[in-house]
Amino acid sequence: MESEDLQRMVIAIDGTAGSGKSSTSRGVAARLGLRYLDSGAMYRAMAWQMLLKGVDVGDPDAVAAHAESVRIESGTDPADPTIHLSGTDVSRQIRFAETTMAVSAVSAVPRVRELLVHLQRAIIGEGGIVVEGRDIGTVVAPDAALKIYLVADPAARAARRSAELGEDQVQDVRSVQQDLVRRDSVDSTRATSPLSAADDAVVVDSTELSLDEVVETIVTLAEDRLSSQAGD
Ligand code: C5P
Repeated sequence: MESEDLQRMVIAIDGTAGSGKSSTSRGVAARLGLRYLDSGAMYRAMAWQMLLKGVDVGDPDAVAAHAESVRIESGTDPADPTIHLSGTDVSRQIRFAETTMAVSAVSAVPRVRELLVHLQRAIIGEGGIVVEGRDIGTVVAPDAALKIYLVADPAARAARRSAELGEDQVQDVRSVQQDLVRRDSVDSTRATSPLSAADDAVVVDSTELSLDEVVETIVTLAEDRLSSQAGD
């Protein structure tokens, strides 16, 4: 494999809520020695900031006005991804149920997307990164060398997600499933950059696959892309 090409490669991993994007993306980045960016964590940090400041997340103008001054920093080590809001570690707060409830409304505000897409592109820079989200292959990095659209059956997603939630956030599998389906619906129907597979994305269904199998599938696809690029 041409390591120079690998170091410039962008792998976009989009998909529905709870489809295993984070574990998969981190696994792929670690296997290939690439950086990792969780764009969903950035939208969550933005939503948490609105809650902290008492901004009505149902009021797009108020959200847009407040978003201008928000400072979000994402660490890109797949072994230890970090997320800071004006210098404060908010990795726990962005997973609170109230943040999850608010995030789809906040991420539907066009100005929020403009600001965060700009930030995401700056982090992607020259590449060498796996980026997960909803619009990475379609909007943020349309030239990505490899685009994956990860899907899984809603019941399987809910079971995995409830197993991941910390003790302080225990929710039953049914309410987790309802929340995933609600977020997919809001994310897929918003006017700006709705969740959708890029035309050239490879759809991977993780319902029947283990995490290792999904990671292996994507690593193999990445290696194939690199060797076909080298042969061009
Ligand atoms: O990936 P995660 O479930 O943490 O994302 C949280 C929310 O952030 C999504 O439900 C969606 O509303 C928003 N999001 C987005 N675009 C992205 C990533 C996440 O709109 N690229």
